[in-house]
Amino acid sequence: MSAPGIPDGYRWSSGQLTVGGIPLDRLAARVGGTPFFAYDRRLVTERVAQVRAALPEVHLRYAVKANPMPALLAHLGQLVDGFDVASALEMRHALDTGVPADRISFAGPGKTTAELSAAVAAGVTVEVESPGELERLRAVSEGLGIQASVAVRVNPDFAVTGSGMRMGGGPQQFGTDAERVPELLAAIGRYGLAFDGFHVFAGSQNLDAERICQAQRRTVELVVKLAAEAPGPVRHLNIGGGFGIPYFPKDRPLDLAPIGANLARLLDDVVRPLLGDAEVVVELGRYLVGEAGVYVTRVVDRKVSRGTTYLVVDGGMHHQLAASGNFGQVIRRNYPVAAGRLGDGEPETVTVVGSLCTPLDLLGKAVRLPRTGPGDLVVVFQAGAYGLTASPVRFLSHPEPVEVLV
Ligand SMILES: *Cc1c(COP(=O)(O)O)cnc(C)c1O
Repeated sequence: MSAPGIPDGYRWSSGQLTVGGIPLDRLAARVGGTPFFAYDRRLVTERVAQVRAALPEVHLRYAVKANPMPALLAHLGQLVDGFDVASALEMRHALDTGVPADRISFAGPGKTTAELSAAVAAGVTVEVESPGELERLRAVSEGLGIQASVAVRVNPDFAVTGSGMRMGGGPQQFGTDAERVPELLAAIGRYGLAFDGFHVFAGSQNLDAERICQAQRRTVELVVKLAAEAPGPVRHLNIGGGFGIPYFPKDRPLDLAPIGANLARLLDDVVRPLLGDAEVVVELGRYLVGEAGVYVTRVVDRKVSRGTTYLVVDGGMHHQLAASGNFGQVIRRNYPVAAGRLGDGEPETVTVVGSLCTPLDLLGKAVRLPRTGPGDLVVVFQAGAYGLTASPVRFLSHPEPVEVLV
């Protein structure tokens, strides 16, 4: 039994939502209070298995910024082939999982010299984003006496449409413009750094398989062209990911089958003949963990204002900014929201708000819930990615929520 809009994989027991097989009331008691985030390890495991089953033999990496919780990383470390990190702390947590350093890449447009130094010392591959960064990497590499492993992040000469967040084509702070990459490759050769390959990440939160296929094709073609100027063989060809998850009622889940078929063709027809045994890397964040997480709050107050019923919960946008519609969304829509219990009787229309003193703190506008009041649990779904660490936790100085992996 399920309620509308709730992602697949969630189960109900005696009318109560369960997460990781645990009824929500009991989980809240175990955590010791609300609000909290819970991530379901079974759902993460299943999602990775689905991706592996649909895609040909590729190297699957997890983009840590989607959710860097250490226990979750440890779990993912058993499932994926590597990690992509974007800060020194993400790198430390990724290394803590025991995943070998040569399966970790470090991307990001503002890597400090200290971060570059930590990455080179660790043996992590640096995704160099600009000529200036390459100069600093060279100095760090010489200073440490360690040959840095370097991949080139390319700002492609095309853009992917249909992405929630576009990160390619036109001017960008990410990567080096494709037309300037040959100079960068020549410099890597002159400096004697260890060339690892290319990284092209063209967008995020894409639900259109056809467009993802197109982006993958253009990415592979671009890399083949650039590889002719590379100072060594391409070991890794990171083609990004950008697989989206459905947040809103009209969103259809991404169909992986055509993406897998397209990728298999690209491997057979282009990568193997032209790039030998280069490993193709698909790097996913949100898609692996987003649907495996819930944000659980408890109703503090129920009030009616001029005909609108408000449920005021003990959490809010300071923990789950994206659900409030303030994380880059153009139009605010509700993330799936449910009461922790399936009620009997007619559902009612209520607006769920957080406890912050700002009208921005809206978690569910005019949602249909069973009769719910103070003490009851309210759950926001699709909270496994870009939740807690993408939220202004200190805004209004409420306590930080707990995160559990169940
Ligand atoms: C953010 C990011 C990702 C992850 O994007 P998702 O939409 O979470 O899959 C992957 N690669 C790079 C370079 C990123 O910056």
